[in-house]
Amino acid sequence: KRVELGPQAHGINPALVDERAVTVVRTLKEAGYQAYIVGGAVRDLLLGLKPKDFDVATNATPEQVKQLFRRAFIIGRRFRIVHVVFGRGREHEVIEVSTFRANVDNAHSEHVSGNERTAKSQLAGMKHAVDASGRVLRDNVWGTQEDDAARRDFTVNAMYYDPETRVLVDYHGGMQDAQKKRIRMIGDPATRYREDPVRIIRAVRFGAKLSRLGFTLDPKTAKPLQDGIALLAEVPQSRLFDEMLKLLQTGHAVASVEQLKKLGLARGIYPLLDVVVERAEQPFVKAALLDTDRRVGEGKPVAPSFLLACVLWQDVQAGWQQRLARKEHPFPALQAAIDEVFDARIGDVSGRGKLGGDMREIWMMQPRFEKRGGSSPFSLAEQPRFRAGFDFLRLRADVGEVDEPLVDWWQAFSQADDSAREDLVQQLR
Ligand code: ATP
Ligand code: MG
Repeated sequence: KRVELGPQAHGINPALVDERAVTVVRTLKEAGYQAYIVGGAVRDLLLGLKPKDFDVATNATPEQVKQLFRRAFIIGRRFRIVHVVFGRGREHEVIEVSTFRANVDNAHSEHVSGNERTAKSQLAGMKHAVDASGRVLRDNVWGTQEDDAARRDFTVNAMYYDPETRVLVDYHGGMQDAQKKRIRMIGDPATRYREDPVRIIRAVRFGAKLSRLGFTLDPKTAKPLQDGIALLAEVPQSRLFDEMLKLLQTGHAVASVEQLKKLGLARGIYPLLDVVVERAEQPFVKAALLDTDRRVGEGKPVAPSFLLACVLWQDVQAGWQQRLARKEHPFPALQAAIDEVFDARIGDVSGRGKLGGDMREIWMMQPRFEKRGGSSPFSLAEQPRFRAGFDFLRLRADVGEVDEPLVDWWQAFSQADDSAREDLVQQLR
């Protein structure tokens, strides 16, 4: 049943609501459609957190939404949604607008390109949605707001908020679960994990994210997780990789590792993630995880290449040392060791050229930091990825792998002007 709650009951602070999201909702409503802020943003608002992005749900189709905004783009990921763009440069903001839709078995939805293929949608038992003029929309996955709520994962992720009337709409007891600090799957958890095994990883992510507010997974939601791991075999590697990054790069990497262990998921979600969990207590990896969380907390950017370079550094070093012992030349030996690590550990994400390239650069820079004579520090400091390489060096110093004075010297060098840089090089003599 549909429950509507007023400002007194939900206590959402309007100051936390993004102006652009309000504009999108208002524009859609003025055009005669239903529109609400939805999902993670409503959850965060309810918990007094500032949402990092705002999604809007509406009964308007993507085409209808697009017509209402000057800078709106229909993008087809797994479903067609509209990006409404505001501002530019640093102030640039995207509000994602999605049309109410029903729960399609995700195994099928992957194949519903543009989600208008009739056979698949009938197969999934979809309704024929009708637009404002009574015309049957494409026979597809669109649904009512109630359908839209039911296809979402956790009750706290399935609420709708109208920033104009300040009414919160809740179909699945999300409000009560938020009060009880409970992360609960909508419907039968085992069935929902089977429909879309990625929800297993999402359970870990929200368990981690909300743990610092005292939330825990509802026992019935947690129980089928371990058995569900086998289901992840059918999920494309690229999607698993993305979900892994969301665990590690959204400000609660350390808490995610804790959740994985606590829920009996320390192994088996994704090979690289197994390595992260295995090594999470090692000083260097621990420092990298904490550093990542700290940076995200401070609103600074984080790169997956940096964290993964930290996690796999010991493999690179081991391979490199072996080759040096065989009297290979240092530079090609390091290169070969890196190739070996890529083959062994991240073969399945080799399509991610930039990620691999950045990891390689971070690693290849490390021996170059030891060479401070002549012109080499000047060219190293001009490398586009110098900052990442230097941060990596600093982390190595934090765990005693290199000497602090070396880091201090590079810190000074990187900030100095050309003549001061010459002096720094002279001082080494
Ligand atoms: P975050 O703040 O970390 O972005 P979020 O709740 O916004 O969290 P998203 O991945 O951005 O998470 O998804 C937005 C919303 O879409 C979710 O709140 C949930 O309602 C729904 N959703 C996303 N992925 C799934 C899924 N695999 N199964 C069911 N519902 C999902
Ligand atoms: Mg989100």
